[in-house]
This record gives sequence, C-alpha cells and structure tokens, in this order.
Amino acid sequence: MTLKDHIRPVPDFPKPGILFYDISTLLAHAAAWKEAVRQLHAAVAPLKPDVLVGIESRGFLVAAPLALELGVGFVMVRKKGKLPGDTIRHSYALEYGEDTIEIQDGAVQPGQRVVVLDDLLATGGTMAAAVELIRKVGGTVAGSAYLIELSFLKGRERLAALGVPSHSLMVYD
Ligand code: AMP
Repeated sequence: MTLKDHIRPVPDFPKPGILFYDISTLLAHAAAWKEAVRQLHAAVAPLKPDVLVGIESRGFLVAAPLALELGVGFVMVRKKGKLPGDTIRHSYALEYGEDTIEIQDGAVQPGQRVVVLDDLLATGGTMAAAVELIRKVGGTVAGSAYLIELSFLKGRERLAALGVPSHSLMVYD
C-alpha cells in the first residue's frame, strides 16, 4: 500500500467538475497517517523551522502533529473573525471577490523561521496569501509542505516566484 491508496478522490465535490481529494480516509488509518507524518517530518526538519503555521482548516490537521514531532510551536492562520484578541489581517483576490485571513498578533516573532502547512496545494493562492501574511508580521518563510499537490495547477511555480519552496508527499498530474 502507498499513501495514495488511502486518499479518496470524490468527483463533483463541492461543485460539478471538481475532483476533491479527501484525506479523511488517510486520517482514519492510524498506520498510514503515522507514515505520512513521518514523511512530512523528513521533508520539513531540514528547513529548521522555529514554528509551524497551519492554514484553516485541514492544514491544522497536518501542522499540529508535525509540530509535536519537531518540538516546535504550532500557530493557526484562520479566516477572519475566528481568532480572539489582536490580529493581523491580509486580504487577497479570489476568482470572484476576495477573502481575508488572519493571525494573532505576536504568534510569529519577527525573524522566526516558519514552515507553512496545508493538506493540498492546488493553484497556490491560499498559500501565497499565508506567505504574505507571515511576511507582514516579520516571519521568514522557509518553505511550505503538503500531503497532496495537484501539479497541473502550477502552485509550486507560483510559490517559487515568491521564493518559497514546496514539499509534497503525493503528486497528481
Ligand atoms: P489553492 O489555493 O488553489 O492552492 O487551493 C488549496 C486549498 O483549497 C487547500 O486549502 C485545499 O484544502 C483546498 N482544495 C483545493 N482544491 C482541492 C481539491 N481538489 N481537493 C481537496 N481540497 C482542495
């Protein structure tokens, strides 16, 4: 069995024409999930992060166990209005309209090395916004990592243009 055997592709979710890669089946299989976290550890440890950032919401599932393994802190980037206290925001364009993400003030210290995690890299728009936000608070983005990469959507190239390398465990093209 490979990690891909534990991913469930769901056609036409959440709308017609989208093939959704469901990680629920990976999370539900203890041995496969442990192996995925082990592989992420091997990819991310050389980047020597001071802190891991997870992007809401499935990015949290990836970043939190990895942070424990690496012995570094875990910080959330969330959609606006969900984090208490002072926050720093960043708005970015979507295909239609815009979205805003935020991080708690002081959660990432200026100069800290940050690796950002999400479950899946598609166009890279979500990760690019998170990179801008972390840079806004003075963090150094050492890299980004994912369980899954949809290589035909060129997210890797988009992030490379921002100077951010990408690491993924499973590539679909
Ligand atoms: P993007 O900003 O285009 O790179 O999209 C990445 C974000 O959207 C991630 O947070 C993913 O969880 C989600 N996403 C995009 N496309 C898919 C897909 N085909 N299957 C599952 N999640 C997806």
